[in-house]
Amino acid sequence: MKILVINSGSSSIKYKVFDVRDSLTLASGKLEKIGESTSRLTCRWQNSVGGREETQQKRHVRDHREGFAWIVTSIVEQGAVSDESEIFAIGHRVVHGGEIFRDPALIDGKLIETLRSLVPLAPLHNPANLVAIEIALERFPNVPQVAVFDTAFHQSLPPYAYHYALPYEFYPDYHVRRYGFHGTSHHYVAQQAARYLQRPIESLHLITLHLGNGASVTAVKEGKSIDTSMGMTPLEGLIMGTRCGDIDPAVIFYLNRRTGKSSEELEDILNEQSGLKGVCGVNDMREVEKLANSGNRRAQLAINMFCYRIRKYIGAYTAVIGRVDAVVFTGGIGENSSFIRKESCHGLSHLGIVIDGRKNRRSRGGIFEIQGDRGAVKVLVIPTNEEIEIARQTVYILQRNS
Ligand code: ADP
Repeated sequence: MKILVINSGSSSIKYKVFDVRDSLTLASGKLEKIGESTSRLTCRWQNSVGGREETQQKRHVRDHREGFAWIVTSIVEQGAVSDESEIFAIGHRVVHGGEIFRDPALIDGKLIETLRSLVPLAPLHNPANLVAIEIALERFPNVPQVAVFDTAFHQSLPPYAYHYALPYEFYPDYHVRRYGFHGTSHHYVAQQAARYLQRPIESLHLITLHLGNGASVTAVKEGKSIDTSMGMTPLEGLIMGTRCGDIDPAVIFYLNRRTGKSSEELEDILNEQSGLKGVCGVNDMREVEKLANSGNRRAQLAINMFCYRIRKYIGAYTAVIGRVDAVVFTGGIGENSSFIRKESCHGLSHLGIVIDGRKNRRSRGGIFEIQGDRGAVKVLVIPTNEEIEIARQTVYILQRNS
């Protein structure tokens, strides 16, 4: 049963093809720079004898429609599916599901209308998701398609955690509240942690840290998200590659008065020019670490700020869930940077969080434990796999609706 998973951004489309029966990734890839003269499609796939292959091609791709067509052709040419009819279903990542979607949902005309009504909540993300859905429906009108929402896992937050202390009417009138994002990843690694620890998820108290270009932390109590660092948009919370995370909102009004920059310009600065990039000029953590190691003060400051913010949230969420069974690191940084893991847990032994230097440095694929003998709290590194979670949820929804 082959499922195509699509994650569409404003100028990129990521895809994966899974055979969900044996959880096998048959092909994956990314089309970048849509709309530019050098759009680039990177494809990885498993050949007929089980070997791994990779290609990278460049050409001008005018829009998402052309990009999607190129991806489908490549998937067939590379043999991930023998022809298009082998695609059993398509799962779409959708960033914002508002308060409407607590679960993934089968896509039909009504759902698309509902998604359109949610665009004002996520103008930077949902339009690209919608475009991909419409194109995929045009191309595969008879293939069932499912929307999986980044916000859905966090719909279990209690009101005192999701309300902002603003005039109450902003909530019913404009839907202003905390929604949280990266839900598919937090949910996936929480389930993986439960499986690894051989305990029912309903018995576990976890703090899950998704540290990639975007970064967020979630308090997962008995399988449910009860607080999370991202807010009404993905801007709140941890320091990220280019996003500022938590700041005093008055900074925005002050900068507006002092610099004359418009709210759109300031929104762009907070989303695209801040975070690690704002502090030290680069947003890729590998480069930040390299600069810091070579003595660059700004890069050292950026890392200190990044890890300090994580420690603050670990402390806060320990108070929120009472007892912590495990802290989970995931995402590109969480899975790969032993230095950031070490610094993020530094000085937390009074909370039972202690990292073993040797175990932490031993980087290998799959799930591994890095806590020290003195630590009561397990510290786990768990590779995330949002796409396989989307594929599974897609199958689950199809079975539920059949
Ligand atoms: P996205 O949020 O776009 O999915 P990823 O989860 O792939 O991003 O994470 C990207 C981040 O992970 C980048 O900042 C990258 O530098 C960082 N990263 C990847 N490998 C390493 C590594 N070995 N050491 C430090 N950072 C790493």
